[in-house]
Amino acid sequence: MNSAILIIYTGGTIGMIQDPKTLSLKPFNLEHLLETIPELERFNFNIHSSSFEDPIDSSNATPELWSHLVSIIKNNYENYDGFVILHGTDTMAFTASALSFALEGLTKPVVITGSQLPIGMLRTDGKENLISSIEIAATLPQVFSENRGEVYIYFDGFLFRGNRTIKSSTQHFEAFESPNFPALAEVGVDVKFDLDHFLKKRIEPFSPKDVFSDAVGVLYLFPGITMDTIKATFSNPKNEVYIMRTFGSGNGPTHKDFLEFLENEIKQDKVILNITQCDRGAVDQGKYESSGAYKNIGILGGLDMTFEAAITKSMFLLGQGFSGKELKQKLIEPICGELSI
Ligand code: ASP
Repeated sequence: MNSAILIIYTGGTIGMIQDPKTLSLKPFNLEHLLETIPELERFNFNIHSSSFEDPIDSSNATPELWSHLVSIIKNNYENYDGFVILHGTDTMAFTASALSFALEGLTKPVVITGSQLPIGMLRTDGKENLISSIEIAATLPQVFSENRGEVYIYFDGFLFRGNRTIKSSTQHFEAFESPNFPALAEVGVDVKFDLDHFLKKRIEPFSPKDVFSDAVGVLYLFPGITMDTIKATFSNPKNEVYIMRTFGSGNGPTHKDFLEFLENEIKQDKVILNITQCDRGAVDQGKYESSGAYKNIGILGGLDMTFEAAITKSMFLLGQGFSGKELKQKLIEPICGELSI
């Protein structure tokens, strides 16, 4: 039987076409997908599409967008073999990370893609990204002998685990990287899957979640940051988890006022998760004296998680009602391949 693929269009550059007369960019009509990309007709797949009523620039993405995507996938889960989401590149790594946590027990591929140039432009990268994403979503279920699913980002010849990616270029077609985890497939003349690195079959039943909490904050360290700035960052009493963006392998200031302040926040049940500002490598609390001090006061080491994974994982876990010890434990152990132990 032909694979059935649902394309979900959320917005972003990929969905624009250039009006040849005015040269201005206008939203792409998904109904005319096959007309715009006639190459798709050569696929032997049943391709259907669903579009957001008001496509958005992904810099306006919110947890509601993630919940909406979860509900579309949930409502169509039985009828399709795979899903392709067209999304703006700016927050694609956040959406991919959020969906990876929310689509618990996923056993089908969800491939997110977009483009740097609109699909209607001559040198667009959108066509290749879309065509390869569809091919991957349709063929992956046959690659494994069992049903396996993950949320991926496909971009410029590479398939990445979604919750390992970062947007690393505003200019290049190669806009995404997965700095701490190998690409899962490379698309050249052939599609070469790196089968050893895919997630194993999920044993839990498909049970998508659509609640994300916004009780999170971020402390981004820099040399010279004042206690006033730090206190202002922690001033929202509703926030429960803070991501602390640190230097190198998890280091930062260790003066008494700072450590006492953070320790006091932790005593008041705030959770602080240490995520490095570096793209590559991991937080290793205790490697240097400064991060050892963080460990001693109860700050959690976020290992090699991306910021995108750390913040969406916090929003997801809080949304599911986790708190206290259980929340802390879940934050530092992998849910779906987002960190290496
Ligand atoms: N601002 C756009 C967006 O993220 C950029 C893009 O699509 O590449 O929606």
